[in-house]
Amino acid sequence: MIDLSPPSYPDLIFRTLSNFAWPDGAACGVILAWHVDGEAGPMASDRSVVNHVAAISEAAYGLTTAMPRILDLHRDLGVPGTFFVPAHVAERHPAVMEAIVGDGHEIAHHGYMHENVFGLAEADERALFGHATAILQRITGRRPRGWSAPGWGVTEQTLSIMASMGMAYDASLMERDVPHMVDTTAGSIVELPISMVLDDWALFGSSLYGGGVSSLTSAARAEAIWREEFDGLRRFGGLFQTTFHPNLMGRPGRLVMLERLLLGMRACDGVWWGTCEQAADHVRRLDVEGQTNA
Ligand SMILES: [Zn+2]
Repeated sequence: MIDLSPPSYPDLIFRTLSNFAWPDGAACGVILAWHVDGEAGPMASDRSVVNHVAAISEAAYGLTTAMPRILDLHRDLGVPGTFFVPAHVAERHPAVMEAIVGDGHEIAHHGYMHENVFGLAEADERALFGHATAILQRITGRRPRGWSAPGWGVTEQTLSIMASMGMAYDASLMERDVPHMVDTTAGSIVELPISMVLDDWALFGSSLYGGGVSSLTSAARAEAIWREEFDGLRRFGGLFQTTFHPNLMGRPGRLVMLERLLLGMRACDGVWWGTCEQAADHVRRLDVEGQTNA
C-alpha cells in the first residue's frame, strides 16, 4: 500500500545568525576549497582498483603534477586555501602535505578512503572518523578542524559525531548560501555551504574507472558560470566556496583560466578571502556574541 504518512525529518536545527556579517564589512566571502581525492577517489568503493594502473595514474595526476602548480597559483595570488584530503592520500603523499602546510594552507578531513558515510553504522562511522583524524594529525602536525563529505553523503548521525568530536565546521550542505549554525543533539557546528554550481565535477567530471569520460567542456564555459555566480554572491552577500578537484581543475588549460578568473575576482573591492577554518571561527564568534547579547 502507498505510504501517505509525512516523513520524519532528522533532529537538526539549521540556524541562521541574525548578526551575520562578513569580516571588515565585506560584501561576500571566497573560500578556495580543493578536494584532493587522489587515489582514494577511484578506490572508495572498490579497493581492487589499486591494480588498475591507468585509473590510479589518472587520479594521482592531481597530487604529483597538478598540486605544485596549484600551490604556485595560490602563492602568486596571495590567497589561502582549504585542502580536504582523504587520510590515505595524505599518508601516500606526505611531501605534498608538507608543501600545503608549509605554504600556510589548511588541511581538512575528507574520510580515510573517500568513503561515502551515508548508511554506515554509528560505531563504524566514529571509528572511521577517528582513524582518519589521527593520520591527518600525525602527518600535518595539526588536528583537522572541519570536514567535507565524500560523495556528499551526510546524515544526522554524521553531524552529531562531528559535533561530539569537537569539529568546528562541516562543508557539505546546500540549503543556504550564507554560513550558519547546525544544532545537533550532541552540540552545534558551523555550516559552510557548498553548491554544485561551484563544483568542477559538474563541468569536468570524468573518471577512467567506472564508465570513462562523463563530461568534457571548455574552461571558458566554466569561467563564465563561476564569474556569474561570484557576481551574484557579491550582490546577495553569500559564500563562494569552490569544490575543485586537482586532477580535474589542475589540467593546464583550466589552471590558466582559473588564474584569469581569480585575478578578476581579486580586483573587486569588498571581498573577504580566507580558509574554511577562518570562516568557521568567525561565524562561531558571531554566534557566541549574538547569544550573549540576546
Ligand atoms: Zn572528494
